[in-house]
Amino acid sequence: MVDWPVTEPARPVATAELLAELLPTLRAFAIPMPVRFRGTTLREGALLRGPAGWGEFSPFPEYGPRECARWLGCALEAATVGWPPAVRDSVPVNVTVPAVGPEQARAIVAGSGCRTAKVKVAEPGQDESADVARVAAVRDAIGPDGMVRVDANGGWDVDTAERMLTALGDFGLEYAEQPCATLAELAELRRRVAVPVAADESIRRADDPLRVRAAGAADIVVLKAQPLGGVRSALRIAEQCGLPAVVSSAVDTSVGLAAGVALAAALPALEHACGLATMSLLAGDVTADPLVPEAGELPVRPADVDPDALAGWEVDPAGWRDRLLAAASFLPERLFRPGRP
Ligand SMILES: [Mg+2]
Repeated sequence: MVDWPVTEPARPVATAELLAELLPTLRAFAIPMPVRFRGTTLREGALLRGPAGWGEFSPFPEYGPRECARWLGCALEAATVGWPPAVRDSVPVNVTVPAVGPEQARAIVAGSGCRTAKVKVAEPGQDESADVARVAAVRDAIGPDGMVRVDANGGWDVDTAERMLTALGDFGLEYAEQPCATLAELAELRRRVAVPVAADESIRRADDPLRVRAAGAADIVVLKAQPLGGVRSALRIAEQCGLPAVVSSAVDTSVGLAAGVALAAALPALEHACGLATMSLLAGDVTADPLVPEAGELPVRPADVDPDALAGWEVDPAGWRDRLLAAASFLPERLFRPGRP
């Protein structure tokens, strides 16, 4: 599942041996989120440290061990081998607008400094007019030269998506992220609307991320480092998909975000702003120098855990230790890491 190519001098190491070495460094955090996200107001996860630095392991609560193995692969890559070379030193990012009212949406965009806004739509319990009002406010706030994209998290059926994207298209959309849930629905929708379609959940939760292209289901792919097994694994998926890529976070701390930044920095082409400006969704961070954008760009750099910053959010790691070991049983028996000099 996690199959890192050996891109630097490396020696194979038994996964069990690697985990035995890293597990004593395990720390866990629970950071409140000011605005509800994925039905919760708490972001929980774990951190572990290896010779290359800190890695984040923060799969969502409902994910089982097989799926969590990819997230663990990303943390182990960060902690043991680090990331492939960057081809850019900063990454343009979008501001994310949750399913808030139009006035709040306007304020979020105006204060962001970003030239691209991603607007959450199709929120359960809200009606369609709320989406239209929010997107209208965002377009007004960002101006005619800014980019506006929407993310439905698979919440529309094809007919609703066609109706909504036709209406929202009047505000000028860069693309619609995961407007429908299934590949078949996305492919059907692409035949009906002019707005480009981006696949997010269809890639990150799929057994085979490459089916998206074969199904004709997307114009753009959204890549996330943790769900795709790490930076190298995501780079390989991007190459094999052959579609323009956008890198997004899983609302990680700066440690997890740094993996996303490394992925965005290593992509041969980057035509769209990335969804990595998500530190603002958390009430705090585990580093003293959070990865937050300046003038709509994130610097390409790693993030180090700061003991004082972590102390404010730290929780008992016992549950995370169990979750990590369960996930590890789905990793290959041997992984790679650089040989010691
Ligand atoms: Mg999304």
